[in-house]
Amino acid sequence: MKWKGRRQSGNLDDRRGMSKGKLAAGGGIVVTIIVLALNFFGGETGQQLAPIVEQLGNSQTVQQTEQRELTAQEKEMGKFMATVLADTEDVWNQIFAQNNIGDYKEPAMVLFTDAVSTGCGNASSASGPFYCPADQKVYMDLAFFDELKTRFGAKGGDFAIAYVTAHEIGHHVQTLLRTSQKVTQLQRQNRSEANRLSVALELQADFYAGLWAHYNQEYLEEGDIEEALSAANAVGDDAIQKRTQGDVVPDSFTHGTSEQRMKWFMKGYKTGDIRQGDTFSEILN
Ligand SMILES: [Zn+2]
Repeated sequence: MKWKGRRQSGNLDDRRGMSKGKLAAGGGIVVTIIVLALNFFGGETGQQLAPIVEQLGNSQTVQQTEQRELTAQEKEMGKFMATVLADTEDVWNQIFAQNNIGDYKEPAMVLFTDAVSTGCGNASSASGPFYCPADQKVYMDLAFFDELKTRFGAKGGDFAIAYVTAHEIGHHVQTLLRTSQKVTQLQRQNRSEANRLSVALELQADFYAGLWAHYNQEYLEEGDIEEALSAANAVGDDAIQKRTQGDVVPDSFTHGTSEQRMKWFMKGYKTGDIRQGDTFSEILN
C-alpha cells in the first residue's frame, strides 16, 4: 500500500512502550500520583504530554506508568497505522455524505502492548484486535499481526494490517448505523439465531473493509488484495482457534468461514456500494 508522506490521523492514541510496574506504598492512606506520560502522535506532529491521574484509596500498591522510547521500526508502524486510520476517515466521511446516512463520527484507535483497560473491560493481547462500542475505540496490539503469520499462516504484509483495521472500523460504522444494537436486541429475543446473527454482523464488517479498499484503490499496490484475502482466510472460524483470555469477548467468535469472509470482502471491494452489504438476508435464510 502506498502510504508514505500521506495524511496521518490525529485520532491515534499510541500507548505502546508504556508498562505498568508495581511499587509498594504505605498502606491506609490515599495516594494521588500524577504521572506524565509521553504520548506519541506520529513523528510529524511532535510529542504531546498528557497527564494521567491515578487516585488510589487504601491501597498497598501503586501503579506507576513507565515509558520507554519506541524503536525506529515501531515509530514507522505508528505512522502507517495513523495513515490507514486517516484513510478510513476520508472514505467513511465520503460514504456517509453520499448516502445521506448522517454524520460520520470518527473513532479513536489505541495501540497498546500486552494489556489495556477499555470501556469494555480489561483486555490483553490475547483478545486480538477489537472494537469497543462503549467508548467507540479500536484497540490493537500489533503483535497480533506477527501471530497471524506465524500461527495462522497468513501472508502478512501491510495490507493485511490495513484490512483488519478496516474490519474493526466496520464495527464502528455498524454502531453508528445502529446495526450492532439491533443485532444485540435480536440475539436476546432469539437465542437460537444468536450465532448466525453474529456471523452476519462479522461478514458485514468484512464487506465494509472491502468497501474501504474500493475507495482506496489509487493507493493499492500489486498483491495488496491477496494480502487482505490471505488474512481473511486465516481468521475464518474454521481456521482459527477460539481465543478466550481477558475480560473482553474476543473478536474472533462466529465470524463465518474463510470462504464467506473472502467473498464478502470482495463484494465490497468490487461494488463499492454500501447498499450491497446486506449479509443478514443471506445468512438468516
Ligand atoms: Zn469483527
